[in-house]
Amino acid sequence: TYVVTENCIACKYTDCVEVCPVDCFYEGENTLVIHPDECIDCGVCEPECPADAIRPDTEPDMDKWVEFNRKYSELW
Ligand code: SF4
Repeated sequence: TYVVTENCIACKYTDCVEVCPVDCFYEGENTLVIHPDECIDCGVCEPECPADAIRPDTEPDMDKWVEFNRKYSELW
């Protein structure tokens, strides 16, 4: 899965949301999140993010971000 990380905070761009083929972004007041079970790992959102906030969970230390994205995508 891809996940949204800290650089997303207070970012106003939503180009990532528009390109996602499965609509798995969820929007809160200050950040977006990706539902880890709905993301199909296509990667098209990653280059759309001007803040470089969207990362694959295969990078080191992403577990906390997967949990963050899961928690908030189920709340919002
Ligand atoms: Fe959506 Fe693809 Fe990004 Fe996953 S990797 S959030 S499916 S655009």
